[in-house]
Amino acid sequence: MSAPRISARVQALRPSETLALSARARELKARGERVVSFAAGEPDFDTPLHIQDAAIEAIRGGHHRYTEVGGTLPLREAIAEKLRKDNGVSYTPKEIVVGNGAKHAIWNALFTLLEPGDEVLVPVPYWVTFPEIVRLAGGSPVFVTPAAGQYKVTVEELERAATPRARVLILNSPNNPSGAVYSRREIEEIAGFAARRDLAILSDEIYEQLVYGEARHVSIASTSPDARTRTILVNGVSKTWAMTGWRIGYAAAAPEVADAMQRLQGQSTSNPAAVSQQAALRALTGERTTAETMKERFAARRDLVVRRIADLRGVRLVFPEGAFYVFPDLSERIASARNGVTDSAQLCDFLIDEAKVVCVPGSAFGMEGHIRISYAVSERDLEEGLDRLASALDRM
Ligand code: PMP
Repeated sequence: MSAPRISARVQALRPSETLALSARARELKARGERVVSFAAGEPDFDTPLHIQDAAIEAIRGGHHRYTEVGGTLPLREAIAEKLRKDNGVSYTPKEIVVGNGAKHAIWNALFTLLEPGDEVLVPVPYWVTFPEIVRLAGGSPVFVTPAAGQYKVTVEELERAATPRARVLILNSPNNPSGAVYSRREIEEIAGFAARRDLAILSDEIYEQLVYGEARHVSIASTSPDARTRTILVNGVSKTWAMTGWRIGYAAAAPEVADAMQRLQGQSTSNPAAVSQQAALRALTGERTTAETMKERFAARRDLVVRRIADLRGVRLVFPEGAFYVFPDLSERIASARNGVTDSAQLCDFLIDEAKVVCVPGSAFGMEGHIRISYAVSERDLEEGLDRLASALDRM
């Protein structure tokens, strides 16, 4: 007896390296090892209490049944209001589809847009999930790599990569894994490029609220009516509100596209959990001070990590302006390693074995020589992990 055959499509799927490494860290911890995990893709804070209360009220208040497929009207209205206020772009509730996390919204968008053989421009470094969903949806990712030492692509680089089969451009600013934030001018230039090439833009803005210092997030959809029409804006409550487990994300798009995404969702998951929707509604309409406090903590941690990494010999870091990751370039250290380490995956294995510090290799994000360090961990772990990382590198 053999187990049923698995489709080639799913067989080819790579497990999410970030989730796999977080699992490895948990496993080591369970065995009693003093592990510091820098692999987390989620805030280390609890969901704010007023949002937890909204969920408890929702359970007691009878939010037990199916809702509209694309989310309740009050939630879609609150999202529309948020997009108008924070991002300067107006959508009607009909143009908004709420799904099970931003990941689901991205899935809906790519399955709605792609025909077999369509190409999708994916700037490097990219969030691990983008190429996998593109392939599952029948498309081919075309990776666009910036010049060495750069973490944002230019319009010239995009022009060079775009063939007549290009149909979608993925934009993720603030970026996971680099923390890079595209400026208004860069966003406007990219919008112009998308218009010239008639591309749809999938704009993943999940880290939108997590920008620090002088950096400002600009929603590409807000730059012109043309950009608004060709953009599928994706966002959610996971990162800003420390709500990754609640699974609420959304897409905003032209009415035809939103309607198609909703039909797709109607034949797959139906509505996201009713209780989570009520919690998300409170997040978007309630007080913002707890989210502000979390952001301030992230900003301070970013400064700490950046300072510590600047002290490391042979490690280069472009100052990250957003999200909660730093993405230092260790290629010089890898090149001079005397212990057989030759790439970022081996380096991360070495750091786990040698220092019990878990980082994600740059290869997972399409950029060798780098490692991603998440600073969504306590200040204590951050200090301890960076101490251990520094001394392990010196033994390499
Ligand atoms: N986009 C990016 C760039 C992310 O880093 C993540 C989370 N790791 C997501 C989307 C998914 O967010 P959600 O939990 O809302 O599905």
